[in-house]
Amino acid sequence: MSSKDFDVTIIGGGVVGLTCAIGLANAGIRVDIFEAAAHYGEVGAGIGIGPNAVKILQALGILNDVVARSDDREPTLRLFKYRRGAAPHDTVYHYQGSEDDKGLGLHRANFLDALAANLNPDRVTTHFNKRCTHITSASSGRQRIHFADGTIHETHVVVGADGIKSTVRRTVMGEKAADESLVFTGTVAYRGLVPVNELKRAGVTSDVATWPVCWFGPDKHIITFPIKRASILNIVVFVTDYSKVMQRAGPQSGWSNWVQPVTQEEMISQFSGWGPDVQAMLLCIKQPSKWYVHGLYPPLKTYVNGKVVLIGDAAHAMLPHLGAGAGAGLEDAYIFAELLADPQTNSSNLEAVLRAYNSVRVPRNTFIALGSKAAGDIYEGHGPSGATDEGMIKDTGRQWDEVWHYDIRTELRDAQRILVEEGTFISTAA
Ligand SMILES: Cc1cc2nc3c(=O)[nH]c(=O)nc-3n(C[C@H](O)[C@H](O)[C@H](O)COP(=O)(O)OP(=O)(O)OC[C@H]3O[C@@H](n4cnc5c(N)ncnc54)[C@H](O)[C@@H]3O)c2cc1C
Repeated sequence: MSSKDFDVTIIGGGVVGLTCAIGLANAGIRVDIFEAAAHYGEVGAGIGIGPNAVKILQALGILNDVVARSDDREPTLRLFKYRRGAAPHDTVYHYQGSEDDKGLGLHRANFLDALAANLNPDRVTTHFNKRCTHITSASSGRQRIHFADGTIHETHVVVGADGIKSTVRRTVMGEKAADESLVFTGTVAYRGLVPVNELKRAGVTSDVATWPVCWFGPDKHIITFPIKRASILNIVVFVTDYSKVMQRAGPQSGWSNWVQPVTQEEMISQFSGWGPDVQAMLLCIKQPSKWYVHGLYPPLKTYVNGKVVLIGDAAHAMLPHLGAGAGAGLEDAYIFAELLADPQTNSSNLEAVLRAYNSVRVPRNTFIALGSKAAGDIYEGHGPSGATDEGMIKDTGRQWDEVWHYDIRTELRDAQRILVEEGTFISTAA
C-alpha cells in the first residue's frame, strides 16, 4: 500500500528515471515507469560519476550494489591528468584531491543493471514498449499520458526522465520553445572501449590505466579513463567546429541521425600532428561512430509546469566535459523523491512542492552546464586565459570543487524552507 494519497509516473527508464523510482519507492510511494524501448538498455560505453553522485547512491542505500555489479572494488580517486596531445605527451597539470573526492568509473550497462535490480517490485511497475507522445490534463486534475500505441495512463504527477530528446519537455515548455532550446553544440564525439593490454600491444607507452587523462590540443581533446578494474580503457574523442557552436538543432547538425558510423580514416585524419600514443589509441577504435553532441543551451529557466516535472537530461542535457551530467540528474532524482516523501506533501500541495524543486535545481544545474561548456573550451585552447599551458592551468583551476563538494542535504532544507515561508509546509522536516 502506498504511504501517500498520490501516485507518480516516470517517463523514461534511463539511469536518472530509475534512480528517481528507487528514491520514491524507498519512501513508500507507488511508481509506474513507462519506457519506449523493449527493455532497459544503455550504449556500450563508460561513465564516470563524481563524489556528489556517489553520495546520492549511498543515501539511497544502493552504493554497494552498484559497486559490486560494476567490477570496481570501491569508489576511487579519479583526478585528471592533463597531457599534451602532441608529442612528447608531457603532463602539464594533475588535478589534486582528497579522500572526499572519490568517484566511480562504470560501464553504463552495468550501472543500469544495478539500478534495475533495486526497483522494489511491490511499489514500482515498469511498462516497456511504451512511447509517450503527449500529455493532457483530465477534468479530475490528474494528468493523462498518451502513448504511441493509442493507450492512455492517468496519474497525479508526471516525471519526464526521457532524456535529451524529451517529449515531456514539450508539455513543460510548449512545442516551439522546447524545439528551440535544443542545440548542436558544435562538438562531435567518437567513442571506444579498448582493452588496456591491446593498447600496450599497439605501442601506447603513457600510463592510461591509473588516472583519467585529458589529452588536450587545439579545437580537440580526448578523454580516457579506465573501467572494469582498469582492464578496459574508455575513450571519448571530441572534435569541435567553433564556427558551428550552439546552432539550433536541425538537419544541418544531423538532427535526424545524431549517431553515424564513420571510417577510422575520417576520425584519425583530424589528428595529424598529434603524438604517437594518440595515433595508436585511435587505431585501436576499430569501428568508430560519430556522435553529434547536442545540449540545452542556454540552460532552461524552468523544469516544471503544474504537475509535470523534468529531471535528468530532459531538463539539462549538457556538454559532457565535466563528466557531471548523470550526477546532476541523480541529484534531481534525490531532491524530487525526498520532497515528495516529506510527510507534509500530499495530493493537494503537489504543485507547490514541484515549484520548490524547481527553485533549487535550476540554479545548481545551470552552474554545472555552463561549467561543462567552459571546461571543453579550456581544453581546446579557447579558455579566457588563452591557449598556453599557463592559461589552461589557470582556467582549469579547481573546476570540480563546487560540482563535487556539494551539500545536497542543505539544498533539500532550502527547498523545505521555501515551502515553509510560503505556507505550504508548517515546518522543515529533519
Ligand atoms: C559522449 C558523452 C559522454 C558522457 N559522459 C558522462 C560521464 O562520464 N559522466 C556523467 O555523469 N555524464 C556523462 N554524460 C551524460 C550522461 O550520459 C547523461 O547525463 C545521462 O545518461 C542522462 O540520463 P537520463 O536518464 O536523464 O537520460 P537517458 O539515459 O537518455 O534515458 C532516457 C530514457 O528515456 C527513454 N525515452 C525517451 N523518450 C521516451 C518517450 N517518449 N517515452 C518513453 N520513454 C522514452 C529512452 O529510451 C531512455 O531509456 C555523457 C554524455 C555524452 C553524450
